[in-house]
Amino acid sequence: MSRSHFPSLRFAPPPATPLPMRLLPRLLLLAGLVAPPLSALATPPKLVVAILVDQLRYDYLEALHDHFAPGGFRFLAEKGAFLTFAHYNYAPTVTGPGHASFLSGSTPAMHGIIGNDWFDKRSRLMVNCVSDPDAAPVGSNDPAARRSPKNFIGDNFADALRMRFGSKVVGISLKDRGAILPAGHKPQGAFWFDSTSGRFITSSYYTQELPAWVSQFNARQLPQSFTGQKWTRLKNPSVYSGPTVALGASPLPGEKTAAFDHSVAPSPTEGFETLVPTPFGNQLLTELALAAVDGEKLGSGTHPDLLSVSFSSLDACGHRFGPSSHEVQDMVLRLDLELERFFQALDQRLGLHNVWIILTADHGVAPTPEAALAHGLDGLRADMNALTADLLAKLEQRFGAGRFLLTPKIIDGNVYLDYGALAERRLIPEEIAAFVRDWALDTGKFQAGYTRSQLLEGRAQGPLGERIRNGFNAERSGDIVLVQKPFHIPGGGRGGTTHGAPYAYDTHVPILFYGAPFKQGRCAEPVAITDIVSTLCVALRMTEPAMNMGKPVLAVLRPD
Ligand SMILES: [Zn+2]
Repeated sequence: MSRSHFPSLRFAPPPATPLPMRLLPRLLLLAGLVAPPLSALATPPKLVVAILVDQLRYDYLEALHDHFAPGGFRFLAEKGAFLTFAHYNYAPTVTGPGHASFLSGSTPAMHGIIGNDWFDKRSRLMVNCVSDPDAAPVGSNDPAARRSPKNFIGDNFADALRMRFGSKVVGISLKDRGAILPAGHKPQGAFWFDSTSGRFITSSYYTQELPAWVSQFNARQLPQSFTGQKWTRLKNPSVYSGPTVALGASPLPGEKTAAFDHSVAPSPTEGFETLVPTPFGNQLLTELALAAVDGEKLGSGTHPDLLSVSFSSLDACGHRFGPSSHEVQDMVLRLDLELERFFQALDQRLGLHNVWIILTADHGVAPTPEAALAHGLDGLRADMNALTADLLAKLEQRFGAGRFLLTPKIIDGNVYLDYGALAERRLIPEEIAAFVRDWALDTGKFQAGYTRSQLLEGRAQGPLGERIRNGFNAERSGDIVLVQKPFHIPGGGRGGTTHGAPYAYDTHVPILFYGAPFKQGRCAEPVAITDIVSTLCVALRMTEPAMNMGKPVLAVLRPD
């Protein structure tokens, strides 16, 4: 893979305040002569950059730290605050909920984004977390581009920032939900990748026409230039841990083995989809991020603007190759160079002392079941279709033939009862729900099962119960939530891995804050993902989004 290398970075230092100037307000305050001073914390940045790396586990940053460039992850970890014990406090730990929680400070129980897709009880159809039949595609003819944040209940930091400062907000990602959810309800724009055409697109919810800067970006045809390129290891093979072909990995489309070298093959059926699980996807998004800063003149005003960037390629790569693969390690090492390039460009344009950066992930990922088994752990690809068929057979045995469920699928652990069909046979929903929970535990495949009334009445106790409660939305979730055992993933037979569980491999993510209000160094204080927004709002002296449930992480804030 060819790429240019950047000289080591020397970011512009923040202007120094002479010591007497810093002490003066405090002395006057002590003397009772002035109102509480506006400290450095009250000086808003020109730009807040909110970065989500899809599927970035916390441990990746520790394992690869020594191999990072000076200006990417290492820069954030050393010049900013690195929260090393941050977790998602709910399940399912998947992309839509992660992107909605990140800047709302709330969880699916409140913001309602309970999955990437969920079963809609009214229409009895699956809905996508960002689907909106009223929004027309812009820049694309794909009917799947009918997208908006309509399903996202409440507001988020982007909305609160706009209301407080009149900020410009832009959200970008390869994934529609990755671009849309962090950007709130009325951004300047949200743009995502249409892999069929290789263009970045949006919807009529935001605008009737692509902005000129996005059209110009599309005209550069970068995806076309990546097609046919090879993806090789960035570093010497000895840098990478684990076997050359990771246990349980599944090859890229068109490739026979899950081993380096890979190529971005042209796909007659999938368009540019083949570049998504490669580092070229992150390279593409970095280019778009810089085009967005220039195109929207982000950071050029007197108030803080917000750019949200969600890098999707690690997720697509991790699903195929698993967390211990050379491919995932290489993807993180190459993303590090993209971040360095991005931060360097921001420094040139705005001065990094005028920028705050927040970086985290939307979830982690489980080891492949085969890798778990090799370590003596209980790895399993659970055949959910077979389990559901067994459940339906047991329900009929016990309660007689008839319909019990709205959908014969377990969706992110949710089982949906058909209340109408149960009422016709005078069956009591709570009894059926308890039966389903007991069936689940009897199979030996589930760690826990919670019924709707247990969750809504606060009878789901312990850390696991709390995470499931936080992920349970009264309007949208099912009637029983089942939790698979650790190291079990849904899906029989296929290779690769996934995420979604309430376990540490899926919940533990890094959180990095960089900017004037944040202390430098590592901090192992236990924090939840919902604490990010509180911390930002304290630093900006603004009111939090409506349903924020987090606490400010005082340990990383410089004294006010
Ligand atoms: Zn994923």
